[in-house]
Amino acid sequence: MKLAPSPVCKFGEERGSIIHFLFHCPLHATAREEMINRIELGYVKTNTPGFCRQIDVKTVLGANGHLCSDMRNITAMATHQSLVSTKHKI
Ligand SMILES: [Zn+2]
Repeated sequence: MKLAPSPVCKFGEERGSIIHFLFHCPLHATAREEMINRIELGYVKTNTPGFCRQIDVKTVLGANGHLCSDMRNITAMATHQSLVSTKHKI
């Protein structure tokens, strides 16, 4: 007999890790896609040079010092919206 998949993350030790949640958790793939789309749109809007267009943990937390303040605000907001949409709180 098989049990139904659990509605919560089942990735053991990584569960609850912000990096796992933001970048790897299969349960939040849709929210992640939306977050990345918002950030990429922000890069286009702010004319950020290609070599600065990273989407790493610093960037999504609005702490990438290589980005202009507009872009840091956009990334922080994109991440916030993504977290809200999954009802996760940091
Ligand atoms: Zn997970």
